[in-house]
Amino acid sequence: MPSFVILEKCDGCKGQDKTACMYICPQDLMVLDKEKMKAWNRAPDMCWECYNCVKICPQQAVDVRGYADFVPMGASCVPLRGSQDIMWTVKFRGGMVKRFKFPIRTTPEGQCVPFPADWPTETDDIRSPMLCTEPKSMGQDTFPTLKK
Ligand code: SF4
Ligand code: SF4
Repeated sequence: MPSFVILEKCDGCKGQDKTACMYICPQDLMVLDKEKMKAWNRAPDMCWECYNCVKICPQQAVDVRGYADFVPMGASCVPLRGSQDIMWTVKFRGGMVKRFKFPIRTTPEGQCVPFPADWPTETDDIRSPMLCTEPKSMGQDTFPTLKK
């Protein structure tokens, strides 16, 4: 189930050029209506439900209707992100509330180094049949091919 914005909670990230949800979405789905100062998911059918926008929103304004196997009808699963950890508040449909806290990465925004750091990103590598780290991760010096 794709993410959606709870409009009453969204403050448009106070009018920044790029909102937190726009910055984080790997699919570039979140957009901001600058007149109303409200964000929205412009293509729900393209949403991966990765929860990135849910976790990063400083207003807890993004929600996902989770699948019934982990958030059955009437239950909810809401994250609150701090600088060092993230707290998930899980409300079960029977009324029970449980909270789980986990440490998070603390790399400053925009300073994440891709792994491995020397991962080639030239155009020719996109055309290559090899995946990242191959052929070394296959235990080979060269990509194995059939000899004709
Ligand atoms: Fe609104 Fe949250 Fe997106 Fe900011 S991150 S624009 S508050 S939904
Ligand atoms: Fe983008 Fe992930 Fe949010 Fe979907 S759940 S809108 S893919 S950040």
